[in-house]
Formats: sequence, C-alpha cells, structure tokens
Amino acid sequence: MIYDYLIIGAGLSGLNTARLIPKDKSVLIVCKKEPWQCNTFFAQGGVSVAVDKDDIQNHINDTLKAGVYLNSKNAVNKLCEHSIEVIDELIHSGMKFDRNKDGKLSYTNEAAHSKSRVIHADGDATGRELHLFLLQNCHHNILTKAIVLDILYQENICYGATILHNNKTKTIYAHNTIVSSGGIGAIYKFHTNSTTISGDIHGIMVEKGIKLKDMEMLQFHPTVYVDSSTAQKQLLSEALRGEGAKVVDENGYAFLKDYHKNGELAPRDVVSRAIFDYISKTKSKIYLSFDDFSKKDFKKRFPNIYYNLLNLGFDLPRDKVPISPAFHYSMGGIEVDMDSLVTNSKNLFAVGEAASTGVHGANRLASNSLLEGLVFSKLAVELSLKNNFKIDLNKIITTNRHFDIQKPNDKKIKNSLRTLMWTDVGIVRKKDKLKDALDIVNGYLTLDIGRLLKLRLLTAKEIIKSAIKREKSIGAHFIKKENYD
Ligand SMILES: Cc1cc2nc3c(=O)[nH]c(=O)nc-3n(C[C@H](O)[C@H](O)[C@H](O)COP(=O)(O)OP(=O)(O)OC[C@H]3O[C@@H](n4cnc5c(N)ncnc54)[C@H](O)[C@@H]3O)c2cc1C
Repeated sequence: MIYDYLIIGAGLSGLNTARLIPKDKSVLIVCKKEPWQCNTFFAQGGVSVAVDKDDIQNHINDTLKAGVYLNSKNAVNKLCEHSIEVIDELIHSGMKFDRNKDGKLSYTNEAAHSKSRVIHADGDATGRELHLFLLQNCHHNILTKAIVLDILYQENICYGATILHNNKTKTIYAHNTIVSSGGIGAIYKFHTNSTTISGDIHGIMVEKGIKLKDMEMLQFHPTVYVDSSTAQKQLLSEALRGEGAKVVDENGYAFLKDYHKNGELAPRDVVSRAIFDYISKTKSKIYLSFDDFSKKDFKKRFPNIYYNLLNLGFDLPRDKVPISPAFHYSMGGIEVDMDSLVTNSKNLFAVGEAASTGVHGANRLASNSLLEGLVFSKLAVELSLKNNFKIDLNKIITTNRHFDIQKPNDKKIKNSLRTLMWTDVGIVRKKDKLKDALDIVNGYLTLDIGRLLKLRLLTAKEIIKSAIKREKSIGAHFIKKENYD
C-alpha cells in the first residue's frame, strides 16, 4: 500500500497536520512511544498570538528582536500574520483557551513580549489541552511504539520510511512524508524535554545529505528544577516570572536587574547566562521565589506546577525552588522553505520544532513554537494538496537496510555524550572545547554502536560543527572570546 501521507511524530505539529488533511486521504501517523510522550504535552506557558490586527507588527518586531535579527523576515511575517487566523480556526473547531471574567481570551505576558499576548489553557497546561484536543479531532490512524530508523530518499524524492514496530522492521510507503519529530533534548544531560525527543530524524537527514540549519542555536531555559533522578527535568514556566516570581540567591537577593534592565523579563538566553555567571562568581545556590503570590491565586493559575512541585516536596508559593538552566528548545533544524518543504525535496516536508523555517533566528521568543507548529503545518498541508505529488515505486533502488538497533556499549556512550554536550556545547562555549568535543564524537562514531545512538551522534556532530563555524556570540550561541586561538 502507498499512503497519501506518512507523518512522523504525534505532537502538535504532526497532529495538526493530520487534522487538516481531508478525511478521504490515507494517512498514517507514527510515534515512538505513546502519543502523549512528546514535548507538546508538557508545554505550560501558552501560545503567542497577536491580540488584534494592530498588534501583528509588534509581534513581528518582538520576534525579530528576540532572534537578534538573524530570523528569516519572511518566516516571521508568515508566523505573525497567520496567528489570529489559526487560533480563531482552532477555537471555532472547539479548542478551549482560558477566558477572563468578561468571557474574553485571557492573555498573559512572557519574557521579551512587548505586551501580554500569550493565551493559555487550563492555567499552565496549554500543551496538554492542545494535545488532547488534537487527538480527539484526529480522524487518521496513529501507530504507536513505532520508531523511524530511516527514510527512503532518492534523487530529492522521499518514498516513505523504515520503522521498527513490535521488534520487526517494516517499510511504509507514502506520496508525501511529513517530519514532525520535534527537537533534540535527550542529547543533553539536563533537559526539559520528553524522553522520546532525541534528534534521531535529524541524524537521518545528515546521512541523506539533507541540510540542517542553525543547529548551534539551542535555547537553555533558565528556571528548571534539575535535582531529580528523572531524565526529563521539571520546568518552571516563564509565565511565573511574567506574573511576579523572582530569581534570587541564597540571601534572597534578586540579582537579574544587575545583568539586564528588564530583570526577570529579560530574554531567556540573557537570564540563563546571568544565572550561569552568578553561580560561577558567587557559588550561591539559585532559587525561584514566589513571595508576591497568594496560595489561592497560585493554585488557580498554575495548578499543574503546584501539584508537580508538591510531589517533589515543595509547597508553593511558600517555598522557594532551587533552579538551574537546562536545555529546552532547538531553534535550528531541517531546512525548509516558507511552505515547510524540505530544501531541494519534492515531497518531503518538516514542521514544528524539527524544522528550521528561520522564524526564531538566534533565539525563540517565548510561546512562539506552538504557534509555529500550527501555522507551518497548515501551510505544508496546503502545498502538498496543491502539488498532489505521486511517487513511483518502480524508481526505488534501495529499500530495506538491516539495522542493529542497540549494541552493548550504547548506554555508556550515550551518557558520556549527554555530559559532553552539557559541559562543552552548552550555555557558554569555548572554541577549543568544541573542537575536542567534535573529536570525541567522531571517535564514538567509529565504534561498534547501534542505529539509534549513531543517529544521535550524527545530530550532535552537526550541532558542534555549526557551533565551531559561528565564531561570534549571538543570541543563544555564546562563545567565550579568550579561548579563541
Ligand atoms: C516543558 C516544556 C514546556 C514548553 N512550553 C512551551 C510553551 O508554553 N509555549 C510554546 O510555544 N512552546 C513551549 N515549549 C516548546 C513546544 O512545546 C515544542 O516546541 C512543541 O510542542 C514541539 O511540537 P512538535 O509537534 O514539533 O514536537 P513534539 O511535540 O515534541 O512531538 C514529536 C513527536 O515525534 C515523535 N518522534 C521523535 N522521534 C521519532 C522517531 N525516530 N520515530 C517515530 N516518532 C518519533 C515523538 O514520539 C513525538 O510524537 C515547551 C517545551 C517543553 C519541553
């Protein structure tokens, strides 16, 4: 069978793509574990949207400013110009965002937005609510616990993918393949991402010679509780700072104003580096404190954070929570055009965090990623329907490759890689350390390793290579000058 569409990933980008594809098309969505195991499910703060037509230009300006003008202007225009329309369509289709007493959408503020334009659902469970809504409105099949190990790609045409399901490899053929596999979080030791998010498909793209872009542009979220044993760490949403939470040292001193005039609302990379710098200078533990909140309001506005932290032993807003920056979001990804078509490809699309539209530039404006997934999945569907591309199976030369999924040494190497990426390819980078990291990763790639580790290593290698290439600090990429040779 040849599907009309194969969608790799069941987060917001994949499911919204599926929702917009007409019912009479044959569509298969595959995801690694259960559908909820994706970054979308964990998104807390919300979705940015221009509050009215007059605000579109401000949203564009804020996005460009946060991205240090490295953004693609076209992509930013598309994102902001489509925001009202995609959110209206979602609401019209039944998605419920939080509303104020007058029944109007409730907008909150987040760092680097010049006004409150972030809408949310069930307080701080925007991602979960959106994901649930999209699952409930999904009229196509989802194959869970199906890991994509390879794509069938030849002469700019994608014929589908090889997947592992029930311990067997299988080929899925499709006229259109949409990559919506998210970012790269699990490559880092400390991260906020779902454990399914490990950059496998980026690695496959590298193997096929498909271009990745801006891979060095990685966002480290400043306020994460990392002192837990789980791989995925608990995020303390930016919206908390937007509504009054303070970053303080052991003595309760709020030091961020010493680094940036906007203090707690400075851009994420600035706050992350400020915390990193303050810790290295003072050796103080850093906390997020909530003195200005009443318990009742806190529980109402941030119910999920309240209960998650209660399970970890913190009674908010009374207790302050020890925090650290942690890897959070990948601005770069698979290079695509303004309709989400992968560069030089005829029928391969990438949407959401996996893709690089150039919309985020050197730093993502808070809550622009859910919006990006919504806008660019819509554009991908529109173009694919218009193109109506058909593959010809007689033209495929290679089909099934044999893969050893895992090898005995993989776990050890995987953990070393995560530590290496955190220490040497993290918030503050040094050129000599980046070069050493590249050598180490190249060394790992010569070892007897399984397929999934190989893909992670290829992705890590691309990140390091891009970081070495960009000699000047900009946005989220910060390179220490004194180590230049
Ligand atoms: C804790 C947290 C809070 C956040 N808060 C916000 C917020 O408030 N606002 C905002 O705009 N953004 C937020 N973000 C970012 C945002 O959630 C993500 O960028 C967005 O949800 C990504 O959606 P996606 O559909 O592209 O990928 P995901 O939702 O991550 O989905 C990826 C899918 O790909 C599948 N997959 C991956 N590899 C494979 C493979 N090899 N084979 C098969 N399937 C595969 C996964 O199983 C998953 O189904 C947050 C992120 C995190 C982690």
